[in-house]
Amino acid sequence: MTHIITSLCLRDGGCVEVCPVECIVPGMPQDQYPWYYIDPATCIDCGACIPECPFEAIFTEDEVPDAYDAKADQKQAKPAGTPGFTEHFEGSNHHGHAVVMDTVKTLTAGETLNLRDDIQPNYDYFEKGPGYWDGWQQHAK
Ligand code: SF4
Ligand code: SF4
Repeated sequence: MTHIITSLCLRDGGCVEVCPVECIVPGMPQDQYPWYYIDPATCIDCGACIPECPFEAIFTEDEVPDAYDAKADQKQAKPAGTPGFTEHFEGSNHHGHAVVMDTVKTLTAGETLNLRDDIQPNYDYFEKGPGYWDGWQQHAK
């Protein structure tokens, strides 16, 4: 098993700080990989990242919900080109650095999301995508 970061992630970065095996990487390029991603081959399922996430975006793989009830004004991010994900978002991360995203959607209360669609992208990021790109640790600080 592994832990999974879902599309509720808004790049806060707090999870990176607590991972004992440094297997959480900020997605890059950001428009194609808008979240942070957990390397399933390295994650030891310690659970330390879950309470660090202000957006409750992290689940054990088994517990990723297939019918997640969104809260009012909650935000979700998807890769560029995903229909409906065109909003501009500005926030700040765990270290107070700016987070700017342009592939976000604001959800409505009661909207139901199948977050299990977000499992495979965590695997793909490391098997087919950039994975541990040069400088990711500095970028995450
Ligand atoms: S703490 Fe949550 S929002 Fe922040 S990078 Fe990790 S999963 Fe994403
Ligand atoms: S469960 Fe533990 S090892 Fe896995 S990503 Fe989270 S902090 Fe890292």
